[in-house]
Amino acid sequence: MSRLMASVSGVRGIWGEGMDPSAAMEFAARFGLFQKRGKIVVGRDSRVTGPVLHHAVVAGLTGVGCDVVDLGIVSTPTVLLAVEDSDAAGGIGITASHNPAQWNAMKFVDSNGLFLYPERAKAFLESASESIDWCGWNEVGSVHTDSRATDRHIAKILSIPYIDVQAIQKKRYKVVIDAVNGAGGLIVPRLLRKLNCEVIELNCQPTGHFAHEPEPLNKNLKQLEEAVREHGADIGFAVDPDVDRLAIVSEKGNAIGEEFTLLIASKYVLAKKPGPVATNLSSSMASEDIAAEFGVPVYRTKVGEINVGVTMIEKNAAIGGEGNGGVICPEVHTTRDAPAGIALVLSAMAEGEMEISGLTDEIPRYHFAKDKIEVDSGRLDLIMQKALAGFADHKIDRTDGIKVLGDKHWIHIRKSGTEPIIRVYVEAQTPEEASRLCKDTIQRLT
Ligand code: MG
Repeated sequence: MSRLMASVSGVRGIWGEGMDPSAAMEFAARFGLFQKRGKIVVGRDSRVTGPVLHHAVVAGLTGVGCDVVDLGIVSTPTVLLAVEDSDAAGGIGITASHNPAQWNAMKFVDSNGLFLYPERAKAFLESASESIDWCGWNEVGSVHTDSRATDRHIAKILSIPYIDVQAIQKKRYKVVIDAVNGAGGLIVPRLLRKLNCEVIELNCQPTGHFAHEPEPLNKNLKQLEEAVREHGADIGFAVDPDVDRLAIVSEKGNAIGEEFTLLIASKYVLAKKPGPVATNLSSSMASEDIAAEFGVPVYRTKVGEINVGVTMIEKNAAIGGEGNGGVICPEVHTTRDAPAGIALVLSAMAEGEMEISGLTDEIPRYHFAKDKIEVDSGRLDLIMQKALAGFADHKIDRTDGIKVLGDKHWIHIRKSGTEPIIRVYVEAQTPEEASRLCKDTIQRLT
């Protein structure tokens, strides 16, 4: 049985269990038709199944008459930027992001260099039932290689108007980068060397053989922590295989937690350029504390990167992103970009004459707890109704599921998009309070 998962964020699956060359070719052809047979930029992360799926994607696109610009192995933000900065009709990123190595996926990019807006993604998926109108034999598309996209991406980051490149260069920071053998090894060390850092490369060969679990969570960063200590480095950075999420290890050799990446970047950017902040409903409320210091609002969006990006554009946000290490710096583009996040964090250190642990200590600290309820899919809505009734006397945000807003705590209850599961996220002032609230909520709902 095919277990390919198609959603507004793209199409993903395990190799051989839904994701295979024929599925990739078909979705690519349909996307080419959806983008009216225009020019399509294609890039991929380093996964072992990347080359074969890349060939299939190129076959699908050229077979419906699209010309293809092939970027090779690049970060996802590099694909997005290459589309935005060109006359391409769209792009396809072949990457399963932080998923394990047997997974692969396709992410679809619109002509503006952003992922398809939810309503466009829905229309695209609906077009999957139509038959493919292959082009005439003399109309097939051609393939051009663009090997400079990463250089242009780095140049754009270095031209963020408020970062002080010289201040960073003078510090000659010693930096360890763990790219988990994903696409990050081809961009992050180059960016760091441009910033005159002494670079220690860890897992920077883009082989697709991930050296550890690829999601940059604290528990997966032991090797990076050790390397930072061993080398006496100023900071360690970890990125996921497609380089849109960034996690930090302090000079003491401790992973500080993904939530802090956006918070440190936000504080630095707002001091330079005060303006609205946008982040999703499940990211830390420390964003509100930081924004209050600068007298600017925080806009909370549905979970999903594109929702943050759309709100940032609407509200002309100065900074935004997600608590999972996804920093969006609109001076580069309105999408998560780990290399841009690295430049902001190093600039914050250099200009503030601070170590990374000092910058982290300045951020208000809250604590998360999360759990899930597994139920029959028929009961999902019933439980959501129960949650709504159970918290009727609380302030509730219904932008995405049910977010119960307390005084210095919140409880976010939402249905998973892909499984019969209800997820409960809690943030509170102490770890004990967070886990108590989480437990109580689960008990109330089951
Ligand atoms: Mg990713």
